[in-house]
Amino acid sequence: MSRPPSPMDIAFDEAEAAASRGEVPVGAVVVDPATGTVLARAGNRTEELNDPTAHAEVLAIRAACAALGEPRLPGLDLYVTLEPCALCATAISFARLRRVYFGAYDPKGGGVEHGPRFYHQPTCHHAPEVYGGIDETRAGEMLREFFRARRTG
Ligand SMILES: [Zn+2]
Repeated sequence: MSRPPSPMDIAFDEAEAAASRGEVPVGAVVVDPATGTVLARAGNRTEELNDPTAHAEVLAIRAACAALGEPRLPGLDLYVTLEPCALCATAISFARLRRVYFGAYDPKGGGVEHGPRFYHQPTCHHAPEVYGGIDETRAGEMLREFFRARRTG
């Protein structure tokens, strides 16, 4: 008997799909924890859309807000395969998301546990609960493989 895919499994599917489009492999999912419903799923599309803000988290937040007809997502959770950057950490705060579950830590580009550490700043008016390092090995290997292939390709 196969278990249903977890939100993180779906985020990894989105990350793999992004890699196959030539995007940095990051995937994100917005979930209603009360029902387990996946409201939105997205992978990076910055290359495709010529949009430096088209990160997986931003696209998933936009899609979930559009689906619900709401400007914010209080009580909902976001799963993402990589530590959100400064842009996405801020978007998550503005969306009033309840929790963020992320995969690999990102010392070079992260904005949650690294860099600006936005949720710890006095200018941050909503800090989600943060759970990092979920399936971290898988998330890290996916990124390393992508950048290795790009260097040699
Ligand atoms: Zn981002």
